[in-house]
Amino acid sequence: MSNYESVIGLEVHVQLNTQTKIFCGCRNRFGDAPNANTCPVCLGLPGSLPVLNKKVLENAIKVGLGLNCTIAERMKFDRKNYFYPDLPKAYQISQYDMPLSYGGFLDIMLKDGTHKRIGITRAHVEEDAGKLLHEGIKDGSNVDYNRTGTPLVEIVSEPDIRTPEEAYAYLTTLKAILRYLEVSDCNMEEGSLRCDANVSIRPAGEMKLGTKAEIKNLNSFKAVQRALQYEIERQIDCAEHGEKIVQETRLWDEAKGMTVSMRSKEEAHDYRYFPDPDLVPFVVSREQVGMLRAAMPELPQARAARLVNEYGNEGLTEYDADVIVQEKQLADFFEIIVKKGFVSPKLVVNWVTNELLAQMKSRKISIEKLTITITPEQMVSLLKLLENNTISGVTAKEVLSDLFDSDLLADRIVENKGLLQINDLSKIEALADEVLAANEKSVADYKSGKKNALGFFVGQVMKKTQGKANPQMVNSILTKKLGS
Ligand code: ADP
Ligand code: ZN
Ligand code: MG
Repeated sequence: MSNYESVIGLEVHVQLNTQTKIFCGCRNRFGDAPNANTCPVCLGLPGSLPVLNKKVLENAIKVGLGLNCTIAERMKFDRKNYFYPDLPKAYQISQYDMPLSYGGFLDIMLKDGTHKRIGITRAHVEEDAGKLLHEGIKDGSNVDYNRTGTPLVEIVSEPDIRTPEEAYAYLTTLKAILRYLEVSDCNMEEGSLRCDANVSIRPAGEMKLGTKAEIKNLNSFKAVQRALQYEIERQIDCAEHGEKIVQETRLWDEAKGMTVSMRSKEEAHDYRYFPDPDLVPFVVSREQVGMLRAAMPELPQARAARLVNEYGNEGLTEYDADVIVQEKQLADFFEIIVKKGFVSPKLVVNWVTNELLAQMKSRKISIEKLTITITPEQMVSLLKLLENNTISGVTAKEVLSDLFDSDLLADRIVENKGLLQINDLSKIEALADEVLAANEKSVADYKSGKKNALGFFVGQVMKKTQGKANPQMVNSILTKKLGS
């Protein structure tokens, strides 16, 4: 069995969140009644003329800059011709050989802490198609043209990605950058971010690219990762059985966990691209590019590096920083809390990225609503109590939950509910004695070498105090009493 390497390139479509569509004044909004946001331009009626939305150009330039691309001096739009019922003009306005931006890169960090640079081939501007509605319709389909003419940027990566894990990291990094730029909410469920994955295999060490399959219908980043994993194994299996891998488009079936062939891949010439005569080539002004470059926000990676620089000596790792910068609001929240100077950055990261996020998720609260749900002051008050051992971790989780529904600081909640941590040595010793006396068999087990019985004893003491005993003290008292 020879050793194979996989090669992956991703095409990501991101919807820009401009007020209006790309070539007309219709509202660009998800969720309105079907066909409410349409006009002769986006319905493709004869005689109507497209006019480029200034804000689309601006946001698309920001995307190019955020991905370290060269912004073209001149760009043009081309017609990509194909027939589909959701495409009323029977062509899509896109960019073929003169895209707005090209030649960039994006740096990803993997779980083991290694970094890798992935090339960005191009990021071009195009319009979205409409949508066919099948739900609740017996014969045929209905068509909703609200989405036609929604501005898209298509971001095409070089085939630099080698594993499904790298693909996942690429997508999360890309999404974080786009959200920092505030050009899109990147909501995959609403289709404002969509990804097609191209993948091939080749014998390890081979330089020539293998024949690729393009996978569509990927509804989440996890789906991308799973689909790639499946497809790589399928292709290796083909190769090992001497079967030819054909260039084709495949669909990911989430329920079955497999990709299935959809059609043979169309080539660029199938689309009969030609310059759109209604949209003459554009000069992208250097002044505008310069102004947008100067106004670029601090992006997640730069922010992570700064945080490590500022708080690394207080225990903040590169991994912590990478996690916290993924969402701008979360990173803002973190920085406000840490700047108050009362609690260690490491403790803040742990609580914000684990328990806080988990509780927000279970309450279905979006990141945007974070600071109106829990204020930085409330979070500081909670972590201070935890850090100076006034309350235990178990109690802190309970108090955090209370903070969601209250304007009080944690101190008041702890006081009101009588949740102070028990740090009283003699009290904990007495409870430890009780637990040991009641569990003679487990004590014997422990002494005969089953050291994991300790966890059981700790749990029993914690239970007797409703989680209020200082766990470190419980641990050390029990260990001492049991002898080694
Ligand atoms: P197409 O013309 O089929 O759309 P492109 O050259 O435009 O192909 O590439 C589309 C995407 O596929 C890019 O992200 C690119 O990096 C990736 N890609 C191209 N060739 C391969 C290959 N042999 N294996 C994996 N990915 C590839
Ligand atoms: Zn319109
Ligand atoms: Mg292509």
